Amino acid sequence: MAIKNAYLNSVYEDLAGRYPEQAEFLEAVHEVLETLVPVVEADPRYEQQNIIGRIVEPERTILFRVPWVDDQGKVQVNRGYRVQFNSAIGPYKGGLRFRDNVNLSIIKFLGFEQIFKNSLTTLPMGGGKGGSDFDPKGKSDGEVMRFCQSFMTELVKHIGPDTDVPAGDIGVGGREIGYMYGQYKRLTNTHVGVLTGKGLTFGGSLARTQATGYGLCYFADAYMKANGQSFEGKRVVVSGSGNVATYANEKATQLGGKVVAMSDSNGYIVDENGIDFKIIKEIKEVKRERIKTYLDYVPSAQYVEGCSGIWNVKADIYLPCATQNEIDEASAKAIVANGAIGVFEGANMPCTPQAIEVIKSAGLLYSPGKASNAGGVATSGLEMSQNSERLSWTFDEVDAKLRGIMETIYADCAAAAEKFGKPGDIQVGANIAGFLKVAEAMLAQGVAY
Ligand code: NDP
Repeated sequence: MAIKNAYLNSVYEDLAGRYPEQAEFLEAVHEVLETLVPVVEADPRYEQQNIIGRIVEPERTILFRVPWVDDQGKVQVNRGYRVQFNSAIGPYKGGLRFRDNVNLSIIKFLGFEQIFKNSLTTLPMGGGKGGSDFDPKGKSDGEVMRFCQSFMTELVKHIGPDTDVPAGDIGVGGREIGYMYGQYKRLTNTHVGVLTGKGLTFGGSLARTQATGYGLCYFADAYMKANGQSFEGKRVVVSGSGNVATYANEKATQLGGKVVAMSDSNGYIVDENGIDFKIIKEIKEVKRERIKTYLDYVPSAQYVEGCSGIWNVKADIYLPCATQNEIDEASAKAIVANGAIGVFEGANMPCTPQAIEVIKSAGLLYSPGKASNAGGVATSGLEMSQNSERLSWTFDEVDAKLRGIMETIYADCAAAAEKFGKPGDIQVGANIAGFLKVAEAMLAQGVAY
């Protein structure tokens, strides 16, 4: 659909013509530009200095070969990516994703979203993202280690504690970060905060593992309270069963909700008594098994093959925490028909544009991932601070800072939405609040990029 401002529309059309194959990236850009119409109309400098034309093009895109040797002695090759999207307000910061479907479009969409998300945290971090089409699932620890070492052997040339600080994402957890950090240290002979999500014995921050899931619930809680609602006594559906989903379950339960369904890419489980996050942790983090083995622990639960049906499970609160475009129009209609209060995104871009339209026009609360999942990168920012100061804060200190940051992000989004004539629209507020700070920095720095 055409964007209702000639300048914004021409930037988008130019981009779509140049990268027609990058569907996810174009989807993410369109979603942001559409909401910036009142901002661009209120301040002619953004067009005069072509801020939008510049912000949609990464400052630097790095593509590289990652060769490694599997357990059979065969040489395998994967593709590595790091997109350094925008450094206007700080060093590039954003996770690495290891998944077989990773391509440049996915990394660019994630990197673009990261610019605004990092700005919303109020911490000085630019936007970047990277990864590989290597999937750790089904690989031995030795294979994952050799891959991570090879990946870092190239990535080391492009990152640094004041340049670019990667972290985890899908397929990259504590194990992968540990192997990459070990190789970085070996290659540079330095012990610095160049990756976040590190183990606690070598510079990691307490509460980083929990931060995205906890932060999501703190955000949803603040948003619901402003609308006379809360987690107390509510049924909750959480998609995924990885890092974000597991700790979203824990915090939603602590806040009084009952998580009745969770999934992986094969299927979903329903437990009317509430899914115990500790069992999910055991299955996914320790045993690295499929979610259907939950039935070995709780025989009264149900397992359904295929993950998309999870949105039919009746609930008040939906927390998509798996992957992009997992809620399409039909799933959104099911959520509305279930009488839900709201959808709060833990994953990046889990709702298609059509799904967002259905959810918002039915009057449900809706928060975009760039606001409600910003707790992970915010706590990564706190890890960077602790590394620089050679300090380590307690779990409670970090958790309290995280909660404060999420409440501030909610308030900033709500205020920006109000100021630009869309009161209560957190999607619009998040894009505008995230954009303004980055755009101001770009204007002040001249045509530097
Ligand atoms: P994990 O790898 O820990 O978990 C991902 C989960 O999502 C797994 O249960 C996985 O299932 C499932 N999944 C992945 N792809 C698909 C798919 N195509 N269809 C259905 N299910 C799928 O990743 P994270 O929890 O770290 O990340 C989840 C989401 O949150 C991503 O969108 C990520 O970008 C976002 N995010 C993560 C942050 C973090 O701190 N980790 C920070 C901010 C956002 P399976 O086991 O079958 O692969």
